Amino acid sequence: MAAEPIRILVVEDEPAITELLSYALRDAGWLPVPVATAAEAWSELQLRLPQLILLDWMLPDKSGLRLLAQIRADRQFGTLPVIMLTAKSMEEDKIAGLNAGADDYVTKPFSPRELTARINALLRRKAPEHGQQLVRVGPVSLDPLSFEVTLDGARIEIGHAEFKLLKFFLTNPERVFSRSQLLDKVWGDHVAIEERTVDVHVLRLRKALKHAENLIRTVRSVGYMLSER
Ligand code: CA
Repeated sequence: MAAEPIRILVVEDEPAITELLSYALRDAGWLPVPVATAAEAWSELQLRLPQLILLDWMLPDKSGLRLLAQIRADRQFGTLPVIMLTAKSMEEDKIAGLNAGADDYVTKPFSPRELTARINALLRRKAPEHGQQLVRVGPVSLDPLSFEVTLDGARIEIGHAEFKLLKFFLTNPERVFSRSQLLDKVWGDHVAIEERTVDVHVLRLRKALKHAENLIRTVRSVGYMLSER
């Protein structure tokens, strides 16, 4: 099965720049999701979580900085990687952006090569599910290369779907995901699976995790999360 493309939400109101950004992102193998206002960005975020946000500083309805503050204040979006796009090269503006929670910034005009390099660096830093390192939470560890899952150091049997689900949870701990978000992020959006199928796989995953089953928590009327607390 081919890997899901990495979705990058592009919040930019100038069509020419959006086009340039989209071209550069597609060229690097990512999926650009362009929106032109802060309001559209916010509703897109409710629909589907991107892996990264490119956020313009000057937007027609709200400043990019205010949208960033709104994103950072939200429990669900708080850790999304954000790169600010700015025409401003003033040092205090960069500092304001980073203080408001931007992970990085790119000053316009930018070179596509610099942009993709920064995105790559940030994705590596912030999204370990795209990496190949061993991930461990509590007694459970998962090796993405050998497809091995161990509990207290002993290998356990786990199905393919449960493996993917566990990998996603391990690399996104302490965050609640709805069933539809899990379907989207773990199975991909063009797979026709019903939401209750997620429950079945969560049940199987818990069973496989034995005494560590409490790591996978049900958050009533929201979804599931991995939590050590
Ligand atoms: Ca703008």
